[in-house]
Amino acid sequence: MQQPDWSGPLTAAYSSALAFLTDLPDHPVGAAPDREALLAALDGPLPEGPQPAGGVIEQLAAAADPGIMRSTSGRFFGFVVGGSTPAALAADWLTATWDQNAGLFALAPAASVIEEVTGRWLRELLGLPGHATVAFVTGGQMANFTGLAAARHEVLRRAGWNVEVDGLHGSPRLRVLVGAERHDTIDRALRYLGVGTAAIEAVAADEQGRMDPAALARALDGADGPIIVCAQAGGVNSGAIDPVGEICDRAHRAGAWVHVDGAFGLWAAASPSRRHLLDGVEKADSWATDAHKWLNVPYDSGLLFCAHPQAHRAAMSVRAGYLIHGSGDAIDLTPELSRRARGIPVYAAIRHLGRAGVAALVDGGCGAATRFAESLAAHDGVRIHNEVTLNQVLVSFDDDDRTRAVVRRVQDDGTCWVSGSVWRGRAVMRISVTNWSTDLDDVDASVTAMLRCLEAERASAPARTNGVLGGSPTRARP
Ligand SMILES: *Cc1c(COP(=O)(O)O)cnc(C)c1O
Repeated sequence: MQQPDWSGPLTAAYSSALAFLTDLPDHPVGAAPDREALLAALDGPLPEGPQPAGGVIEQLAAAADPGIMRSTSGRFFGFVVGGSTPAALAADWLTATWDQNAGLFALAPAASVIEEVTGRWLRELLGLPGHATVAFVTGGQMANFTGLAAARHEVLRRAGWNVEVDGLHGSPRLRVLVGAERHDTIDRALRYLGVGTAAIEAVAADEQGRMDPAALARALDGADGPIIVCAQAGGVNSGAIDPVGEICDRAHRAGAWVHVDGAFGLWAAASPSRRHLLDGVEKADSWATDAHKWLNVPYDSGLLFCAHPQAHRAAMSVRAGYLIHGSGDAIDLTPELSRRARGIPVYAAIRHLGRAGVAALVDGGCGAATRFAESLAAHDGVRIHNEVTLNQVLVSFDDDDRTRAVVRRVQDDGTCWVSGSVWRGRAVMRISVTNWSTDLDDVDASVTAMLRCLEAERASAPARTNGVLGGSPTRARP
């Protein structure tokens, strides 16, 4: 076998990665959303023959660069997006190099052991039961899917129905109680599972978006059929965490399964100063979270924990004559068969940060969010719409139109990047501090840019009359 040229393409990738990363703090955060220019740089006829790999990588890096959103920057605050710590990124390179199929121990012994160890560390970090199974999936969506598949199995089994064999035709009616401010991936998971969104009963949430346990108790009153309750740790807008302990107590009294969607908020459990927000979370039956959000592991990396290994396996396991099955194989816990060893970067991230580093990551994000809220609220016409208990801040400027216009200006300005949303009927700018490298200087520079954009917008469109779209400018409220 001939030795191929590894050095050419890998050196090209290393050089452009290093240039990209070291340039990150000084580069405009937003990407140029110019599809035509990107096509001109990247498109062409299907290549007929080979080209040297190193040249392909150099050309790819240069052509894609203008369209690469700097979402790994410490001044990216859009959606809920983490970056990559150096250890996690480097481990991800090795993961690709080793190219293990992590479904089976027999096929990937080291990856299996790394994921076993990582799973134990994660349970300990997040304060989850030691016997919980751990599945390394692509993200929160598939973690919710996997957890709800285990839930569907178990609540129907208790009702005398084998859903894996008999499907849902003719099954006892399944009720799914969810908070009004749940993430849309819960609905989508229920579609994937054939449960259907008609099974969803939305439970009222308070003004922060937290499920109201009294409303849940009313919905559960006298119930005796199969029920799944979905609690949320970290609403995607306000960051609010449901009272999960109380939800678990009430749901379990009614024989329901509690699944917690904690895509980013579950990480609060890793911080001694925030852990109280999740009191009782260990009582739930399944938990979904992401490593690619607050742990700052490269995409794609989600996690599902299940307190009922039997139910988890019943929902996911697979047997095939040509495979070599072992007792702890990941294919019995994940929806995938072949699978990237995505536990490896998680292992490196935790090994690098340690318990204290993960806590500092969470506390740093929360502290930066608080600084955003306090700095912005000091200005006339700027209003903060949520209690900043975690890493999310909802801001409005004057009225809805102004808020949307400021969001656009901030995106174009390049100092930082934020996205907009609608919260309780009002247009808001969402700030999510999820990046490991964000410091208070990043926050201050971003606040300055936001206020500059607000002033520019007021100067260009000054005449807002009587607030048809959300009222006259309000005095800032801390
Ligand atoms: C991001 C998010 C999800 C979806 O996670 P993905 O990793 O994007 O699939 C689900 N729930 C909540 C609360 C989230 O914030």
